[in-house]
Amino acid sequence: MKQKKLLYTGKAKSVYRTDVKGKLIVEFRDDITAFDGGKKDTLKNKGCYNAGVSAFFFSCLEKNGVKTHFLEMLDEKRMVVRELSMIPLEVIVRNLAAGSIVRNYPFKEGTPLKPPVIVIDYKDDSRHDPMLNDDLIIALRLATPAELKRIKTIALRVNTILSNMLAQQGITLVDFKMEFGWQGKTIYLGDEISMDSMRLWDKKTGESLDKDVYRFNKGDVMATYNRVAARITKVPGAAKKAVRVPKKTRKQAR
Ligand code: 5GP
Repeated sequence: MKQKKLLYTGKAKSVYRTDVKGKLIVEFRDDITAFDGGKKDTLKNKGCYNAGVSAFFFSCLEKNGVKTHFLEMLDEKRMVVRELSMIPLEVIVRNLAAGSIVRNYPFKEGTPLKPPVIVIDYKDDSRHDPMLNDDLIIALRLATPAELKRIKTIALRVNTILSNMLAQQGITLVDFKMEFGWQGKTIYLGDEISMDSMRLWDKKTGESLDKDVYRFNKGDVMATYNRVAARITKVPGAAKKAVRVPKKTRKQAR
């Protein structure tokens, strides 16, 4: 497959056309940003960790019947995906209160949310991704009521699968963000699922194992990504297909 024209550059990923209709290449760059791009850095190998973990999660989800845009890895940073028409929603599932809902509502950090809380934001950096509700989503014609119901059902299923898988590695899935898109009449899970888009806490120590390490200067973010990528991708019985976390990762993490 040949990489063609650059289609889109985001804060940490670039998307390219290919010579195959309906297939794109997503390149996970080494850039990391927080606070709407207010904090930025480039960290060597960061793209490999996020690409590897995303590919691993997408493969596991596919094995469990969730349709994702993931097709295969081209190398450690580049993923071949289905071309989707993206829905500008950030669908966040929260199992424990943390982050913006603790800042904005009277939740104590770490309070379990049972059942999990789904929060949907409008994906628009210029508006700081404002929170939506069902009526706004429908009024903005971002989804019909039936489509929204389907998106929420998939989001909760993904949450159950990932929470169970991470629990086997002693990791709590606190919250995470998903993005969805259409190919024809089918909704696929798109974008990425990685340490950049999740909040992960070590079950024993409570230590952050995600981008909060970078956001709040909690330590060496690359050392954390390195360790957590190795820990996540060694779940027994999970998908093996086409997932390449850098070999160094596993060695260094031991
Ligand atoms: P919060 O609303 O607490 O800032 O974020 C909730 C969860 O969704 C966190 O795991 C966070 O990493 C993820 N998240 C929210 N907005 C974004 C975003 O714009 N980009 C990424 N990569 N993740 C996000």
